[in-house]
Amino acid sequence: MQRMFLAKSEKVKPSRCPFCAYKLNGAAGMVAVESETAKPSPGDFSVCIECANVLIFDKDLSLRRPTYEEARESRERPDVMQARDIIGRMIASRPVQIVKH
Ligand SMILES: [Zn+2]
Repeated sequence: MQRMFLAKSEKVKPSRCPFCAYKLNGAAGMVAVESETAKPSPGDFSVCIECANVLIFDKDLSLRRPTYEEARESRERPDVMQARDIIGRMIASRPVQIVKH
């Protein structure tokens, strides 16, 4: 499998994650060359940086939940799975927030 990189984040239309409601206003493409960047297009996959769920860029580039078919396709895409892996590790390494009563 070709090694992919998570590119620098590009500004995108602010949109809330339909799973966790986290406000997303940037997206980093998975690119073959580390210095490249990638702008999202309608139908592209995305991964939420807060909950690591797979999302889809809609026609207006807002984010929506994948359909059953899209979710199945996402699991067959090495780039999407690699993005989930990278983001999952970022989430796991975050410090735990202590909220006192
Ligand atoms: Zn989310």
